[in-house]
Amino acid sequence: MSEADTLGHECGVFGIIGDPDAARLSYLGLHALQHRGQDGAGIVARNAGNLAEHRGVGLVHEVFDEGALRSLPGDAAIGHVRYGTAGGDGLTNVQPFLARWKQGQVALCHNGTLTNAPPIREELEERGAIFTRTSDTEVLLHLLAASDQKTLINRLVDALSRVEGAWCVLVISGDKLVAARDPWGFRPLVLGRKGEAWIVASETTAIDFVQGTFVREIEPGEMVILDEDGIQSIRPFARKPRRACIFEAIYFARPDSNLFGRDVYPTRVRLGELLATRFPCKADVVVPVPDSGTPAALGFAQASGIPFAMGLLRSHYIGRTFIEPTQRIRDFGVRLKLQPNRSVVAGKRVVVVDDSIVRGTTSQKLVRMLRAAGAAEVHLRITSPPMTGPCFYGIDTPEREELLAHRMDLPRIRQFLDVESVAFLSMDEVREAVGGDGGRFCDACFTGNYPVDPVARRADAQLALFRGRPEE
Ligand code: SF4
Repeated sequence: MSEADTLGHECGVFGIIGDPDAARLSYLGLHALQHRGQDGAGIVARNAGNLAEHRGVGLVHEVFDEGALRSLPGDAAIGHVRYGTAGGDGLTNVQPFLARWKQGQVALCHNGTLTNAPPIREELEERGAIFTRTSDTEVLLHLLAASDQKTLINRLVDALSRVEGAWCVLVISGDKLVAARDPWGFRPLVLGRKGEAWIVASETTAIDFVQGTFVREIEPGEMVILDEDGIQSIRPFARKPRRACIFEAIYFARPDSNLFGRDVYPTRVRLGELLATRFPCKADVVVPVPDSGTPAALGFAQASGIPFAMGLLRSHYIGRTFIEPTQRIRDFGVRLKLQPNRSVVAGKRVVVVDDSIVRGTTSQKLVRMLRAAGAAEVHLRITSPPMTGPCFYGIDTPEREELLAHRMDLPRIRQFLDVESVAFLSMDEVREAVGGDGGRFCDACFTGNYPVDPVARRADAQLALFRGRPEE
C-alpha cells in the first residue's frame, strides 16, 4: 500500500524501567516502531523522582539529537510515536502527556482510539475541566486526576474502566511504570527484558532492536506494574472476547515482529502462497508493492514458479518538505514513493501483489505507471479481503463511502483499476494464514462485525468533536 492512499496507524509505544540509559534505549525502541507513526515523537524520562520530557513534530531522528537525549537522564522512560488523526498534527498532541497533579507528576501515552471519549470529555468540561489538547488521550489524564481512588494504580484502573475501544496505555509516575491493554486486545503490547530492566513495547521488533529478550505478550485486559520490586500483574477489567486486529498481521506490524504468538514474515509469505494457489494467472513476473507487499509477493512467486522481481522501486528519501511540482507531472504523488522499473516490466505480463486496497486511487495510478513503463498485462492480487468499512479501533481509515470495495463490486473494481484481472483473499483464507480460529480476531473493516457496538456513531462524533477544535 502506498502512502498516498494508505491506512495510518495511531501510534506506537515503548517503555523501559531499570536501565540507566532509559531515554536513549527508548529513542532506539521508537525508531524501530517508526512505521506506526511518523508525525511526532516524544519521551518522558524519570530521574531522581522527577519527570522530564522532550517532544517534537517529525520522525524520531528529527525530533531527538544528542542534546535532547542528554537532557533526559534517568533509569525509566516512556516514549511514543504519533500518527496524527483525531486531534490533528500539532506539537500539542504529541505524546507522552506530562502533567502535575496532587500526587506529583504523571506522564501517559496511548496507542488506540477511545471510542467514548467525546461524551466523557463533555461531561468533564461541564464539571469545569479545562482541556488544552484535542487528542482523545487527554481524557484519560483528566479521569486519572478526577478519580476519588487513593493510589496511582486504583486511579488508573478507575479511569481505564470508564473508557471503551482500543487502548494500550503506558504511565510513569513516582516509582512505577504501568502498562495496560484493553480487554479486547485490539492493538499489540509485549513485555521484554534487557538485563535487569523491564521493557514494554507495541511490537517485539522494538525489544529486539535494543538487544532485549521478548518475554511474553501483555494479555488483553492485563495491567502490568513495574518498579524496583519487580513485576506485578493484575486483571482488573471486565473480561471480553479477544479481538486482536487481523490487519496488524496483514499490513501494520513490521514483518520481523512476532504478533499474537506468530511471526509476521512467514504469515505474509503464506498469504502470497494462498493467493497463487487460489487465484493463479499466466504471467512473466511477480512484482511486489514495496515494502509491505514484498513477503507476500515472494510467497506468490515461490508457489507459482513465476520469477520475482522488483518492478516497483520505493524511495526512502522523501522528507516532509519535498516541494511537489505542478500538475505537469502526472501521478506525481505516487511517484514520490514508488517508481516503475522499466527493465523489469516492459513487454511483460506482470502480477502485482499488494496487501490491501483502500480508496483505489493509488492502485489505479500504479497500474497506469506500469503500463506507461511498457507492461503488457497487469494482474492485481491482494492479500486481504475487500475493505468495506472503516476502523474505529486505532487505525485511520477513510469514510465508508470512500472505500473502493464499498462503492463497487469486483467487475467494476477491475474496470476502475484497468487491470486484466484482480483477486482478493477471502476472510477464511486470511484466517487460515494468520493461524487464528476465526473467533479471536477483529476483522470488522472487512466483515462489518464490529465488536464494540455502537462504536460507529460514537467514533463519528469523536472525530467531529476533535476535528472541530482549534489547533495550536
Ligand atoms: S476494524 Fe479492521 S483495522 Fe480496525 S481493528 Fe478491526 S481489523 Fe483492525
